[in-house]
Amino acid sequence: MDEKSLYAHILNLSVPWQVKSLSLDENTASVTVIVGIAENAQLSCPTCGKNSPVHDHRHRRWRHLNTCQLATLVEADVPRIMCSEHGCLTLPVPWAGPGSRYTLLFESFVLSWLKISTIDAVRKQLKLNWNAVDGIMTRAVKRGLARIKRPLSAPHINVVEVAFKKGHRYITVVPDRDGQALALTDDRGT
Ligand SMILES: [Zn+2]
Repeated sequence: MDEKSLYAHILNLSVPWQVKSLSLDENTASVTVIVGIAENAQLSCPTCGKNSPVHDHRHRRWRHLNTCQLATLVEADVPRIMCSEHGCLTLPVPWAGPGSRYTLLFESFVLSWLKISTIDAVRKQLKLNWNAVDGIMTRAVKRGLARIKRPLSAPHINVVEVAFKKGHRYITVVPDRDGQALALTDDRGT
């Protein structure tokens, strides 16, 4: 297995994505994996699935889990397609959620540490700022709520205001009697 195939495998890439090249920077102790779309790949609208031409590309970079002792970055020119019905849309990438600068595996790694340690300790150890950790937690909550199939119609619900970030910010959580979150809103004014 060559190194491109190895990284395609461990990044769990599938058609039309493929590893284009790899580079090692010994000064910054990092590996950069350049990922791209296979040539002549037919792309489709992420909303309706209709075959659509490429409009342009946006260069994006994500922090991934380390490769041994080396920081690992994934870079890609992500295509934006032009759908005749839905307009210009960015193709979703399988390794990261929309708008995140971290891969899903890296976010999952951060979340696993947040379960057993403080936010401050995790962010210092992984060299992340508060906003990065906040974004990772917010996206995880969104994904969790999106997985809840049942509507907001539990026989008993609670409304809980929670302060975090040293009490400077509030969120409102609506859990059922078993503590399962049914909804979440930013701030407490709603
Ligand atoms: Zn469309």
